[in-house]
Amino acid sequence: MKKYASVIVDIALEKLDHPFSYRIPEELQAQIEEGTEVMIPFGKGDKARSGFVVALSDRVDFPEEKLKDILSVKERSVGIESRTMQLAIWMRKSYGGTLITAMRTVLPVRKKIREKEYRSILREVGAERLTQEIQHLNPLRHAARIRLYRALLEAERLPESMVKEKLQISGAVLATAKKDGIIRIESERLYRAPRAREGGRKETELNEEQRQAAERIRMARAGGDRRPVLLYGITGSGKTEVYMELIAGVVAEGKQAIVLIPEIALTFQTLMRFYARFGDRVAVMHSRLSDGERYDQYERALKGELDIVIGPRSALFTPFPSTGIIIIDEEHEGSYKSEKMPKYHAREVAEYLAERDGAQLILGSATPSLESWYKAQKGEYILQSLTARYGGAKLPEVHIVDMREELKAGNRSFFSRALLSRITERITRGEQSMLFINRRGVAGFVSCRSCGYVATCPHCSVSMTEHRDGMLHCHYCGTKLPMPKRCPECGSAYIAGFRAGTERIEEELKSRYPAVRVLRMDADTTKNKEDYERILSAFADGEADILVGTQMIVKGHDFPNVTLVGALAADMSLNASDFHAAERSFQLLAQAAGRAGRGIRPGETVIQTYQPEHYAVCAAAKQDYPAFYDQEIAFRELAEYPPLWSMLALQYYSGDERACTERAAQAAQRIRECMEDGALELIGPAPALIGKLKDVFRVGIYLKAKEKSILRRAAGLAEGLQEEKAAAGGREVSLQLDYDPVNTF
Ligand code: ADP
Ligand code: ZN
Ligand code: ZN
Repeated sequence: MKKYASVIVDIALEKLDHPFSYRIPEELQAQIEEGTEVMIPFGKGDKARSGFVVALSDRVDFPEEKLKDILSVKERSVGIESRTMQLAIWMRKSYGGTLITAMRTVLPVRKKIREKEYRSILREVGAERLTQEIQHLNPLRHAARIRLYRALLEAERLPESMVKEKLQISGAVLATAKKDGIIRIESERLYRAPRAREGGRKETELNEEQRQAAERIRMARAGGDRRPVLLYGITGSGKTEVYMELIAGVVAEGKQAIVLIPEIALTFQTLMRFYARFGDRVAVMHSRLSDGERYDQYERALKGELDIVIGPRSALFTPFPSTGIIIIDEEHEGSYKSEKMPKYHAREVAEYLAERDGAQLILGSATPSLESWYKAQKGEYILQSLTARYGGAKLPEVHIVDMREELKAGNRSFFSRALLSRITERITRGEQSMLFINRRGVAGFVSCRSCGYVATCPHCSVSMTEHRDGMLHCHYCGTKLPMPKRCPECGSAYIAGFRAGTERIEEELKSRYPAVRVLRMDADTTKNKEDYERILSAFADGEADILVGTQMIVKGHDFPNVTLVGALAADMSLNASDFHAAERSFQLLAQAAGRAGRGIRPGETVIQTYQPEHYAVCAAAKQDYPAFYDQEIAFRELAEYPPLWSMLALQYYSGDERACTERAAQAAQRIRECMEDGALELIGPAPALIGKLKDVFRVGIYLKAKEKSILRRAAGLAEGLQEEKAAAGGREVSLQLDYDPVNTF
């Protein structure tokens, strides 16, 4: 029995940093554990207040006589606070780290909203009048106003923030529209009080396949089948329509819906579909919200003022009174994994929450994660498919270009002849093209341009990366090999690190087509919050013929005038030094192939690669997920990677390189000593792929086991070592746990 408890008082968030110590009276000791809600004397006059026990201990750094006793244990209420507390405790248990970090993750910062943060734009005129206005505007000079009016045709009320950020409408444009009597701007406070539902205004009729899918999913739930549903639907098959249908059913029952969409796909078009159908009981969470706005949404959700929350992974923590459905769109996306402690995966947390709250969980994708398809195969998930594009739209034609042949023919540029001729065609026809390189997991791999050979680690089956010491390194196990001078396969001297950058691609395009308007979108051109939307809007408005960028241009946008998509260097992601390389490439190429020709004109996709026979490339070209899965799962089985094995990365960080390496080595040794033989596999320690970032050194250990529980025990040993060292003053090395890592460390 522990004698002392750290208590967070009354869930006052600004005090999260300081749990307070209390003595546990003997008669209460049996009832108190982490997460227990207790009454404690606090503040002036020792007023009795409630709080949560966040930690128990046998000693405190505090004079005994100053400590106060816990007064009582509160009757367990199923209030929101204890649910949230449970979630935090579950997060800590599942992903390691401290309870405080887990609590910070699931709770927003308590902050009052500033009045001006919520304003709405309301349409003042009828649809007919607005349509006339649009016809009288000049499409070139008034593109922004036309965008605004079109949006208002679909929904009569729009949040001002969304109009400004997502639709790129300036204050000046709004002022003109207001002066002309088209719109009114209103503080949302005025009508915040709950009122009649406006939803159900704009229902679409599902086609037969969509209707059946929605029906089966609903029947499963009605029949008591609690398993998550994997909705596998090819791009353009109408998954979003199915989601909205399911949501409408849940809302009609008086329950709420959480919809996760990767931030990058939270486009105006997508949000509009929800606003148009469900009115203003929809709230959007995104990273640009202020703390005040975030907290306000949280409170509205708590009070039952919202039916639907849409947002990236953190929207999962919305405290609805009665969540009926959780939807994760594009469930394969890497952004659902947190990169900060606790490094949770939204899919896993959603499974926990759905189970706890009796909600149905829907995972949707055209290119499901290997984990989800594997679970569907095993019967842990219900599989539901959508196999046809809505309206019979055809999938684009896909051409795979063998870049080795280009080299043989003397073409050393970024562009194959096949791609160039198609770009030229688009320019003459006044259609648009999108060209991208998939810089995933940072390049650095070494390959042969004559035969396509790639240097991989003999132990880990991942690409090795070129290092400053002139050697090839494996960042999983630390193996080093000399850099080959000639290709070991074909003897060619064309073997080197693979390089391609968006800037050089843009330059080459401009020199080939001087009159053509090119937009570039990559990390450099999207430094400010608004850049991303601005570039996309400009491209959508026809301000450029070609959009060049990284993979970020591929995700979730509909450009009806784009009829050509080019993947310039499929190899960059195929050879990322990570076991997900093939999966990421398949997803990206298949999504890219689904992009072109979304309008009425048919589209074409060109994939340039040195490995045209790679199964990820071939399957993506055919949009054949099952074919890809069969090959990839065989590789994972052979190389012992997830989803067949569980994996844990122990990530050590320190400003002191030696201390970092030493700590990792000690942890590895302790794990080897304490775990029974054969229980797990330990790989490394080795410097991370990014061995040093902002003067912090990074060393990793990878653990693999059949059971996650074994990894949890090993994590406990590593965390124990951290505590011992910290107690002895060795605080310079920190440790982060990453279960089933998704992001490259
Ligand atoms: P996915 O999410 O599967 O790629 P979407 O839900 O975005 O597909 O649908 C693709 C396009 O087809 C969208 O423009 C959508 O509005 C349209 N669409 C799909 N189903 C319907 C339907 N039943 N009625 C009207 N339009 C539909
Ligand atoms: Zn070769
Ligand atoms: Zn290796």
